[in-house]
Amino acid sequence: TRTVPGELKWAASPSEGGWEEVSIMDEKNIPIRTYQVCNVLEPNQNNWLRTDWIPRSGAQRVYVEVKFTLRDCNSLPGVTGTCKETFNLYYHESNEDRESYIKESSFIKVDTVAADESFTQVDVGDRIMKLNTEVRDVKVTTRKGFYLAFQDVGACIALVSVRVFYKTCPLTVRNLATFPDTITGADTSSLVEVRGSCVNQSEEREEPKMYCGADGEWLVPIGGCLCNPGYEERGGACKACRAGFYKAKSTDPGCAKCPPHSHSLRDGATICDCHAGFFRADTDPPSMACTQPPSAPQQLISVVNETSVVLEWTPPHRLGGRSDTNFPRPGAGGGSVSSSQFCAPCGSDVLFSPGQIGLMTTRVVVSELRAHTHYTFIVHARNGVSQASGAGAAQSVSVSVTTNQAAPSPVSSIQATDVTRHSLSLSWQQPDRPNGVILEYEVKFYEKDQRERSYRIMRTFSRSVDVTGLNPLTVYVFHVRARTAAGYGEFSTPFEFSTNSDPFPLIGEGVNSAFLLLSVSGVGILLLISPYTPIDLLVKIYVDPFTYEDPDQAIHEFAKEIDVSSIHIEKVIGMGEFGEVCSGRLRVQGKREIYVAIKSLKAGYSDKQRRDFLSEASIMGQFDHPNIIRLEGVVTRCKPLMIITEYMENGSLDAFLRKHDGQFTVIQLVGMLRGIASGMKYLSDMNYVHRDLAARNILVNSNLVCKVSDFGLSRVLEDDPEATGTYLSPGGKIPIRWTAPEAIAYRKFTTASDVWSYGIVMWEVVSYGERPYWDMNNQDVIKAIEEGYRLPAPMDCPVVLHQLMLDCWERDRAERPTFSQILNMLDKLIRNPGTLRRTGGERYLQCTKAKTEISTSKVAITCTSTHIHIHIVLTPTPASL
Ligand code: AMP
Repeated sequence: TRTVPGELKWAASPSEGGWEEVSIMDEKNIPIRTYQVCNVLEPNQNNWLRTDWIPRSGAQRVYVEVKFTLRDCNSLPGVTGTCKETFNLYYHESNEDRESYIKESSFIKVDTVAADESFTQVDVGDRIMKLNTEVRDVKVTTRKGFYLAFQDVGACIALVSVRVFYKTCPLTVRNLATFPDTITGADTSSLVEVRGSCVNQSEEREEPKMYCGADGEWLVPIGGCLCNPGYEERGGACKACRAGFYKAKSTDPGCAKCPPHSHSLRDGATICDCHAGFFRADTDPPSMACTQPPSAPQQLISVVNETSVVLEWTPPHRLGGRSDTNFPRPGAGGGSVSSSQFCAPCGSDVLFSPGQIGLMTTRVVVSELRAHTHYTFIVHARNGVSQASGAGAAQSVSVSVTTNQAAPSPVSSIQATDVTRHSLSLSWQQPDRPNGVILEYEVKFYEKDQRERSYRIMRTFSRSVDVTGLNPLTVYVFHVRARTAAGYGEFSTPFEFSTNSDPFPLIGEGVNSAFLLLSVSGVGILLLISPYTPIDLLVKIYVDPFTYEDPDQAIHEFAKEIDVSSIHIEKVIGMGEFGEVCSGRLRVQGKREIYVAIKSLKAGYSDKQRRDFLSEASIMGQFDHPNIIRLEGVVTRCKPLMIITEYMENGSLDAFLRKHDGQFTVIQLVGMLRGIASGMKYLSDMNYVHRDLAARNILVNSNLVCKVSDFGLSRVLEDDPEATGTYLSPGGKIPIRWTAPEAIAYRKFTTASDVWSYGIVMWEVVSYGERPYWDMNNQDVIKAIEEGYRLPAPMDCPVVLHQLMLDCWERDRAERPTFSQILNMLDKLIRNPGTLRRTGGERYLQCTKAKTEISTSKVAITCTSTHIHIHIVLTPTPASL
C-alpha cells in the first residue's frame, strides 16, 4: 500500500463507523494511507475491510506482511470487556475484480493476528506507537486472483501498511545450466522440479535439474552441461579457448596449451595444427606433440649361415619424437645371381623371425632362403607419421648377400603302401628344398617299444623302400633324410606303422589304439574326533526360520503357544499385511494382566502366507532386548492364527512425530535415537540384517521408548508400500529412500546398509517425520545420491547429529560407523548436552537485503530477511587493526 499514490478506497462494511481511511506521515515524513478502527466501547463489533482484487500472477502461495499498531486495552481509560487486542485476516479467491460489496461468507480465515511482543517504536505525529509486523502465508491456486479482508471485532487498530508478495527461486546458473526465475510451489514442503537449459556453447552431460524449495532456495542440483570442444568454463559461462590453446572433447577439464610443435591461431580451437615439417598420426591424441618420421636405420650388418641370414642394425639416430619407430620391411627382393640379372620378390616360403613387418627389434633372422642365391635386404624405419609425411626411401638402408650351399630340407611325409606280417613297403616325396641334386636317401627305423636303443639303417637312390624281416603285429618308427653334395639334411619327423597279425596282407593299416583300464576302488573317510569340547559359545546368532524344513518346528522352538482363552481383544488399531492389528489384554496364569497387540492372519490364507506370517514370530521370538518389540507368544492351535506382542501405546514413530511436530527437546529426540541404535546394535550382534529400518517400522510406547519392529522375511519384498519394484530388475522391491546405494544396486544388504537406513531414521526423527527427499521421485533420489548429494540438516538440527547422519551415508560402506560406535557417540552427546547446542540454523537465513560498511575502525553488516533483522558490528582491537 505504500506505493499507491492516491487514496486506497478499499471496500469497508459497514461503510460508516467501521474501518476508516486516514492519511498520516510515516517515519520519513512521507504521506501514507492507513486504515483505522477503534470501537472499543461498543459491543458486538464486526467491521470488515477488503482490499482491491489482487491478481496472483502465477503465484501459488502468497505472503501477506501487515504492519499495524494496536492499542493495549489496559491503556484505554474506561473500557470494559468489549475491547479486543486482535483482528482476523481472511482471503477469498476470485476470477473477477468486480465484486462491489463484501460477501463475508465467501471469505476463508487465514489467521487471527495479535500484536507481537517485539516491536519498533514509531513516531506517529506526537505519539509514540509500537509498530508490529506480522507475515502470514496462504495458498491461492484456484482462481486468477484473490481479495484479502481484515475483520475487526472491537480492537483499536491502525493498519499502517499491507504488502503482498510471493517468493521465487531466482534465475541462476548451476553446472553450466541456466535455471529460470521460478515461482515456488503451493505448499510449504513442495518442491518445484525445474529443468535447466545449457548455457551457450555447452552441451548436456546429463539432464540438468534442480528443485525450487518453498523458501525460494534452489535444492538438489542434478546433472549439468559441459562446454563444447574449443570452449571452457569461466565464471559460469563457456568461453572460447584463446589462441595457443585448445580443447578437444567436451569432457576435457579445460583449455590446454598447444602441445610442442603445434599452434592454434584462432580462438575456440578444438585441435592445434602442426608446425611445418611436423605431423600427427590418425591415432595420435590431440594432446600429443607433433612429431616427425625417423631417419634411416644405421649400420646394417648381415651374417649368412647356409640358407639363412641374420640381419642386425642400430636404430635411426633421429626418432622424430616418437616411440613407435618400427622396421617394416627387411627383405625386399631376391634373385639368383646366375639365372637372372634382375631381382624378383622373395616367395612366401621365406621365413622371417620374429617377423617381416612392424618389427620393434633391431634383429631379424631370415631362413628357408634358396642356396647359392643373391639377395638384397632393405630395412626401412618408419613411425606413426611416416605415412602422413609421405617420407620415402631416405629412411631405409640395404645390404646384399649370397647364400651358401646347404643340405636338403627334411622329407615331409612317408606312406606305407604294402603291409604284411613281416614287411612294410614305404614311399615319400622329395624334400621341398633339395638345395642341389639328391644323391641318396637314408631310412632309419626301430621297434617303437625299443625306442632308439637299437635301430637299423637302409639306404636307397629311389624315393621308396621295402623293409623286410620285421616282427608281426609290431609298431615300427621310421625317419627318412636326403643327402646332396652339401651333406645330409635333417631326418624327417617320426612316422609309425604296424605289421600285421593276419597271414593275408592288409593295406594301409595304422597303429591299433590301446585301452587303459582304470579300476576304481571304494574310498573310506576317517573322521578324527578331537578329545576337547569347544569352549562356551558366548555369541548368540540369529537362526533363519526358513532353514527349518517344517515351519511349525521353528515356531515352537522360538515362540510360546498361548491359550486363546487368556486373550481378550479390545479394539482394532491398525492394518497389517496379513490382517487386522488389535489391542487387548493377556492374562497368563500366575502373571499379572498385560496390554498386548494382537496380529491375526485373515481367513483363506495359503500355505505360503501362513509360513510368512509365522516367520515374523519365529524371528522376533529369538530376540530379547528392551529396544526390540517383545513377542509374548503365538496362537497356532486354533483359528485365526495370532501373534501376540507387547503393546506400544504411541504406535509407529513416523506418525507419532508428525502428530507432535516440534514438541520434544533435542535430548528427548536423541534419547529415542539412542534406543533405536541400541536395538540395532543387538540385532547386528546377532548377525541379523533388518533391511527395512525406517521410522514407520519403529514403535513407541507410553514412556517414549522406541523399539525396532517388523521382522517378517517377506515384508521387505512385498509388504512395505515404500518398497518399489519399478527401479529394480528381478529379485524384489526395495524402499529406495531408506536403502544404501550398494543394496539398491546389487542387493548387498549388510549391517552397514542397516547403518545407512539408521541415518535416514535419524533425519526423520530430527525433522519430526518429514519424508526423506520430500516429493522427489525415486529415480532422482538414486541419481542425487550417486552424485554425492545428501539430505541437509533439518531445521534446528545439532551439527553433531547431522555429521553423524553424513557418516552413516558414506558411499564406501566400510567407512560407515558401526552401531556400537553410534551408540557410544549418542551416549556421549547425552552426557554432554552442550555439544548439542550448536545448530546449523544459520543455513536457513537468507538476507533479502544486506549491507556491509567497512571503515578503518569497524566492519558492520546488516541483514534483513523476511522474519528477522540482524545488525553485526565487528570492532577490531588495535592489534588486529
Ligand atoms: P505391522 O503389520 O507390524 O506394520 O502393523 C501395522 C500397524 O499396527 C502399525 O503401523 C502400528 O500402527 C500398529 N501396530 C503393530 N504392532 C503394534 C504394537 N505392538 N503396538 C501398537 N501398535 C502396533
